[in-house]
Amino acid sequence: MRLLLVEDTVALADELQATLGRHGYAVDWRTDGRDALYQGQVEPYDVIVLDLGLPGLPGLEVLAQWRKGGLATPVLVLTARGSWAERIEGLRAGADDYLTKPFHPDELLLRLQSLLRRARGLPNQPTLDAAGLALDEGRQVVLRGEEEFSLTAAEFRLLRYFMLHPGQLLSKLQLSEHVYDGERERDSNVLEVHVNHLRRKLGREVIETRRGQGYRFIGAGQ
Ligand code: CA
Repeated sequence: MRLLLVEDTVALADELQATLGRHGYAVDWRTDGRDALYQGQVEPYDVIVLDLGLPGLPGLEVLAQWRKGGLATPVLVLTARGSWAERIEGLRAGADDYLTKPFHPDELLLRLQSLLRRARGLPNQPTLDAAGLALDEGRQVVLRGEEEFSLTAAEFRLLRYFMLHPGQLLSKLQLSEHVYDGERERDSNVLEVHVNHLRRKLGREVIETRRGQGYRFIGAGQ
C-alpha cells in the first residue's frame, strides 16, 4: 500500500515512517504543504496521513484543494490535542478520519487498515478475507482454513494488495507502484520473483498470469 505522510515534525515523521515501513506500507514523506499538495495530485496513493499545521500551505487548504480536484484517496488528518474545532474543520474539508496527537502507533495502523478496507467496500474484520484466504495484517501471516503460512515482508505487501483487489486484472506497473518504495525495487523481475514465491507457498492457481497484461488474484476458491 502506497502511503503519503505529510508531517513537519521530523522526530514524529521518522518514528511513523519506521512503523509504517515495518507494517508493509511504501511511504513517501513530505514536510511542506505546497509539496504535499503536488505530490498527492501526481502519485497514486492508497491512503494519506496529513498533519494540519504545516509550513508552506496549511493542511486544511491542501486537503480542500485535493478534494476540489477530485482526489478520492482516503485521508486521515492529525490534529492537535483538545482542538475540536480543528477536527470539525478537517472533516468538513474532506478528511475520512482523524487522530489526535499524541497517539499510539497501533491506533494509526488500525485506522489505516479500516480506511483501506472501507475504500474497497470490504468489511472491517480481524482478518482481510478474500477468495478462501484470510490475511492477518497484524501478524503478517495468511491462513487457509486451519493452515497458516508465514510471509516475508515483500510477500506480505504484495499479497495484501492482491487481496484488496480479488479477481481484478492488475498490471505489473500498478502492482509495482502500489507495493514498492523506490525506483530500485520497481523492477518487474522483482515482482515476478515475489509472485512466484507466493505461488510456491499457496499454490500455483492462486495467482493467474495474463500474458502481456499482468496478474489476477484468484485465491484458494471457496
Ligand atoms: Ca505540524
